[in-house]
Amino acid sequence: MSADLNCSNCGAPLDYTGSETTVHCPYCGSSVVVPEELRLVQAEVAAKQNLKDLSLWIKIFLILIILSMLIPACLGIIGTFTGIIAAIFGIVVAIISPLIGALLSILTGR
Ligand SMILES: [Zn+2]
Repeated sequence: MSADLNCSNCGAPLDYTGSETTVHCPYCGSSVVVPEELRLVQAEVAAKQNLKDLSLWIKIFLILIILSMLIPACLGIIGTFTGIIAAIFGIVVAIISPLIGALLSILTGR
């Protein structure tokens, strides 16, 4: 991009970003008008930027879709494990509480 434009006064290569119609030469200080064909490149740069923006939006969209599927899946997994832990806890309580009752009745002598 920068190799296409040289200073008309001193011939130094100029950095051209594709957004301006004139470029200020950093070597001799003269103002160089960007040729018409390089301004067409500017449209190309804008098109590439648009494409980049579009692919960014597609990425954001895909990430949102994946998240909208992952979050319910994660909640489901968390719910499953919570249910399993609650079931284990219930089984443990069901086994232990008669034993505690028996132990208490032995200790109190009733
Ligand atoms: Zn110059």
